[in-house]
Amino acid sequence: MTSYAAAIDTHFPNAMSVPDFLSEVTETVGQLGIVAERTLALVSICRDELTTDFFHAVETEWGSSFTLAGLGGVPALGRTGWQAALAHIPETAGRGALLVFGCPHIGIEEDGSIGFTIRDGQTRPTATCGALSAILAQSQAGELPTAVDPDDYEATSLALRLVDPQLPPSGLVELTMAALDAIEVDLWKAIDEAAVWRDHDVAVFCGVQIHGHDHDDRIWPRDAWYCGADGHRRRLRLGAAHPNALDLDAPVA
Ligand SMILES: [Zn+2]
Repeated sequence: MTSYAAAIDTHFPNAMSVPDFLSEVTETVGQLGIVAERTLALVSICRDELTTDFFHAVETEWGSSFTLAGLGGVPALGRTGWQAALAHIPETAGRGALLVFGCPHIGIEEDGSIGFTIRDGQTRPTATCGALSAILAQSQAGELPTAVDPDDYEATSLALRLVDPQLPPSGLVELTMAALDAIEVDLWKAIDEAAVWRDHDVAVFCGVQIHGHDHDDRIWPRDAWYCGADGHRRRLRLGAAHPNALDLDAPVA
């Protein structure tokens, strides 16, 4: 096993290639009648150019998509942005649908080093996710921001949101999981406050996007949900290991 594969196996077992992940998503939600012509995709991923391969793959499958996030992948669009996004769901093909992806990201290089990527046109590794790595460094140095800085709005908001100085993260993987937790909370808060499911079917897929060397991107899928007209959030199963991708009787999260 290579160092890269070992690091994936340790921290993100069963991570899938992006094409495999997206085809599982399409198959899973297809069984619920969610197809591209009646669906708007929302994508909550970091600004980093590394994440755009995933964004383009989503758009290839689902059409033009709405970006939710700023640094770290946590939604940064605010109330006004959410109002816009939710006003754009197709309506001409009957009941519309919202397909939401939320993924913080992390680089893992060939040598298994976590949190780094050697990017196109460069010879040295840089931090991935740069924002989460910077916040981790601030936490370790005891230099976390204590208020939002308007000139560094996203990073300072993220630090305040993700890190409790009394319980600092042990490392980048833990901080990445904190970002994933925050993404999921924020996505469902916006969806439920607007009661999107009253008029539109909603499916949400969250996990961690992993960047291996030279665009070897993977998704570690952690949570998947479906919510129909009754507003009842149900877990979906994702993965070829499950002959029946739907598991609508699973406990509600
Ligand atoms: Zn990032």
